[in-house]
Amino acid sequence: MTSYGLSKTRTTARIPLRGGVSQLHKQAVLNRIRPAPLAEKSSQTATISHVQSPPYTQLHLGLFEIGKALGKGKFGRVYLARHWGSGYICALKVLNKDEIAREEAEKHVRREIEVHSNLRHPGVLGFYGWFHDSRRIFLILEYAAGGELYRVLQSVGRFSERRAAKYIAQVALSLDYLHGKNVMHRDMKPENILLGLHGELKLADFGYSVHSPSNRRETLCGTLDYLPPEMLQSRKESYTRAVDQWTLGVLTYEFLTGKAPFEDSLPMTRTRILKRDMKPLPSFISPEAKDFVDTLLVLEPSKRLPIKDVLHHPWIVKNTILSN
Ligand code: AMP
Repeated sequence: MTSYGLSKTRTTARIPLRGGVSQLHKQAVLNRIRPAPLAEKSSQTATISHVQSPPYTQLHLGLFEIGKALGKGKFGRVYLARHWGSGYICALKVLNKDEIAREEAEKHVRREIEVHSNLRHPGVLGFYGWFHDSRRIFLILEYAAGGELYRVLQSVGRFSERRAAKYIAQVALSLDYLHGKNVMHRDMKPENILLGLHGELKLADFGYSVHSPSNRRETLCGTLDYLPPEMLQSRKESYTRAVDQWTLGVLTYEFLTGKAPFEDSLPMTRTRILKRDMKPLPSFISPEAKDFVDTLLVLEPSKRLPIKDVLHHPWIVKNTILSN
C-alpha cells in the first residue's frame, strides 16, 4: 500500500482474513486512545525523533496483544492487535526507524502521522494514536477487515458500473471531507483504499497527503499511473487539489476496466498522461460512465468536475442510492 517513490510494482501476496471482528465497534476505546492534536509545525528537515509523542497518552506495546500479520509495507509490517484493557481490535502498523532513515523518508512518515491523526471520517481509515520506542514507530489504526480494494479488484477483474459508481461516490465523499480540511491525498490508488467490515471504503496511507491551506503545492509525489499532468511537467509548477479529481477519473477508469487508462512503460505512461492519450473505454461501458471519466480526466485542472458535483453526475445518480 505504501509507495514512498514512483513505482509501477504492485504486491500480489494474499493475506487470509480472520480474527475477532466482533469487537470492532467498541467506541469507548476510541475515546481512550484518541489521536493527539498537532503539537508542533512540521519542518521539511526534521527527523523522526523530532515528532513529539502525544504527551497525555501512555501508549506502549505492552498494552496490546499482537495477532497475525495483516500485510507488509515498505518499512515494516501491519499486525492485527487487541487492546488488552478493552478488547478493542485494531491494526498496529510497525515502522522501522532505521529503514525510514535509510530511505530518507522521515518527511513522509511525519506527514502520514500529522495529517492522518487529524482526520475523523467514516470514509477515512481511523487513526487512534501512535507511540514509539528506540527502534520502531507504532501507528494504531482502525482494522479494515475487508483488506485492500486492489486485491478485490484483482480477484474480479473489473467492477460492474453500479459497484464502480458506488465506490466512486464513497471516495468522492471522503475527498470532499479532506478538501474541506485543506488536505490533498495525492496518492489515491486501489492499494491505498481499504475495505471495512461491511464493504465500506476507507481511504488510507497519507504518506503523500498534505495539509495545504493555500490549495497550492509544488512537490512531485504519488504513483505514476495516477499522477495528473500538472504534476509531471518538467518545469516545477504548483498544483491544486484538482489533482485528486484527476486521480478519481483514473480510479473510475480502472474500476470499470481493471486497467489504468495510461498504463504503459514508465516513459510512455508519462508521455500519455501529458497528452491525455487515454486508451479508449471499451464499447460495453455506458455513455454516462464515459462522460463521467471525460469530465474528470481533463488536462486543465480548473475544468475538471468539482468533487462536490461528482455526486450529482447522471452516472453516479443512476447507479447509487445516496440515502443508503
Ligand atoms: P502499509 O504499510 O500501510 O503499506 O500496509 C501494508 C499492508 O498491510 C497493506 O497492503 C494492507 O494489506 C495491510 N494493512 C495496512 N493497514 C491495514 C489496516 N488498517 N487494516 C487491515 N489491513 C491493513
